[in-house]
Amino acid sequence: MTPGDMQGFIFGAPHRYCQGPGMIDRLGEVLAPLGASTLVVVDGFVLDLLGARIAVSCAKTGVTPAIRAFDGEITYPAIDALIAGLEGQRPDAAVGIGGGKALDAAKAVALKLGLPVVTVPTIASNDSPTSAAIAMYDDAHTMIAVDRLHRSPEAVVVDTALIAAAPVRFLLAGIGDALSKKFEADGCLAGTGVTPFGTRPGLTGVAIADACYRTLRRHGAAGVAAARAGKVTADLEAVVEATLLMSGLGFENGGLSLAHSLTRGLVKVRGARDAPHGDQIAWALLVQLAAEGRDDAFIRDVIGFHRELGLPFTLAALGMPDATAAEIAEIADWTMTAPHLRNLAAPVDAAVIAAAIKRLETLAGHA
Ligand SMILES: [Zn+2]
Repeated sequence: MTPGDMQGFIFGAPHRYCQGPGMIDRLGEVLAPLGASTLVVVDGFVLDLLGARIAVSCAKTGVTPAIRAFDGEITYPAIDALIAGLEGQRPDAAVGIGGGKALDAAKAVALKLGLPVVTVPTIASNDSPTSAAIAMYDDAHTMIAVDRLHRSPEAVVVDTALIAAAPVRFLLAGIGDALSKKFEADGCLAGTGVTPFGTRPGLTGVAIADACYRTLRRHGAAGVAAARAGKVTADLEAVVEATLLMSGLGFENGGLSLAHSLTRGLVKVRGARDAPHGDQIAWALLVQLAAEGRDDAFIRDVIGFHRELGLPFTLAALGMPDATAAEIAEIADWTMTAPHLRNLAAPVDAAVIAAAIKRLETLAGHA
């Protein structure tokens, strides 16, 4: 099917999503139906921590893992090197375990070799584990492409005990990345844009994005408190499900909009360029709401939620204090280069975006 020029819509999702405390010990059960030989790409840090448990779980179901530590950048040569290390042996599946890099490395190998891929995120800092997207970089750590798997991940395995044990700033970033998805899907549906599958959004994706937002508003504060205490609670489970599953399904099937477009500018400018993606999106959502002309009370309510959780709602909090008009114009100009700008009820231009940023800075100061 050719994206963008078809009637109807595509809905895509992982074949399985497994979440709960201790879930990593059931990895072997997830992998066994895919075949006996598996390439397992693991963060070095995570390999030290979990290598033995991964091996035991695989051994229980007769899966033979070829385990590779991966700590570098996701470049095409790095992926070629991982494949060369297989010495001509073609595994039945690829698994990525750890933060975003190991997962994207496994996805990139899977894309190149035509393998099913299983993602096992040990932090919840964004929704990439659920999606088909692979962020590719050059050696200077600049993103050069977003490749896409032909099939969504075969399975996503999320051990909430590991998520709870990780530094809470990762979960906060994940919440920031997830909160915007309702408003981005609504914008895509109201506008004329398409989802990452290349079609207009279906109502299912839009509904999931809405559920994502409502779940985070309801369980966010208590879930973050649980994560700070290192405890797995029902609130934390809800927050992780919203952050990894609902957010990923929401954007792939509902579409992205102005919030994600703003990262085009944020990755270029002083200070903000070093902020985590999810922190950038937390702030960018508020700019989208301002650009859409939502009333002050609505935006102040969302700012209040950001304040309660510790999410950024000013440029200063993103690492860009005392932003000048020229810097704000630079963010707005780069934003206009994004492909998601048709995904809004009313079109915006750089002047509207710059005005929205200034409006947010004013509201945030008086929230
Ligand atoms: Zn994102």
